[in-house]
Amino acid sequence: MLRLTFLGTSAAQPTIGRNLTGLAIRRERELFLVDCGEGTQRQMIRYATGFDVAAIFFTHFHADHYLGAIGFLRTLSMQGRTEPMDLYGPKPGRKLLDVMLFTGTEKLAFEVRIHEVRPGEAVARDGCDLVPYATEHKIASVGWALREHARPGRFHPDKAVAMGVPHGPLYGELQRGLPVTLPDGRRVEPAQVVDAPRRGRTVVVTGDTRPCAGTVEAARGADLLIHDATFGDAEVDRAAETLHATAREAARVAREAEVGRLVLTHLSTRYDRDTGTLLEQARAEFDRVEVASDGLVIEVPLPP
Ligand SMILES: [Zn+2]
Ligand SMILES: [Zn+2]
Repeated sequence: MLRLTFLGTSAAQPTIGRNLTGLAIRRERELFLVDCGEGTQRQMIRYATGFDVAAIFFTHFHADHYLGAIGFLRTLSMQGRTEPMDLYGPKPGRKLLDVMLFTGTEKLAFEVRIHEVRPGEAVARDGCDLVPYATEHKIASVGWALREHARPGRFHPDKAVAMGVPHGPLYGELQRGLPVTLPDGRRVEPAQVVDAPRRGRTVVVTGDTRPCAGTVEAARGADLLIHDATFGDAEVDRAAETLHATAREAARVAREAEVGRLVLTHLSTRYDRDTGTLLEQARAEFDRVEVASDGLVIEVPLPP
């Protein structure tokens, strides 16, 4: 399973229909958040993501991307959580998150581990890596590329039977890529019964950024790119000034990176209800695109 739930899709200020930035990623047994704007925990209840978050990956420390963690961690503590929580983000994450842990008087009932990351320092999780890369924003910022490990190739039991491999542990060894010796002394190589490894899925989340070469590189061939699209064509100068992207610029990045699918988010309040303009401008550059709304769920299918 690789399921993304958009918890907040508004830039800088919430609106009636859109919360501040937050994204839940459920991958197999682990749940991650990318950014945690104010109100994120209520959105998690509304959209039923579960609260069993293993780690939060921050793109940067503008207030609209992290203040929600203050209340969320306290709720977890009241609910009796004991598992440690990992927080990852660029500078000055350690300083800001550390202060956040001691906001209020109650001590948290579980351990919170703060990791300040630099671009390129991959975070290894179960079956995947989350790799931060440098983006272009007003303060230190990173995008996060979730890269699944390759999956073992498909095992063909019929071929194994035909070669006289007995049912049992030898099957498992071949599937793990190990050659085996049969009871009669013959040797069977994994490639004779197992296909080549299959690529894992890649999802890239830019956070707030100008369109940049770093995203093109990180998202090259990705299944899904989630890109800042704060503005439309009419505010192209404002996008440059504030170090955000327009929908059209985001779509150009997606086209250049040849991603499977593009989702636009972090919309200025002026596009809160009318996303048609952004969509139209993006579509002119790249057609596999949609504009996120709060509660949008995307399942990323396994590649064939
Ligand atoms: Zn923002
Ligand atoms: Zn920002």
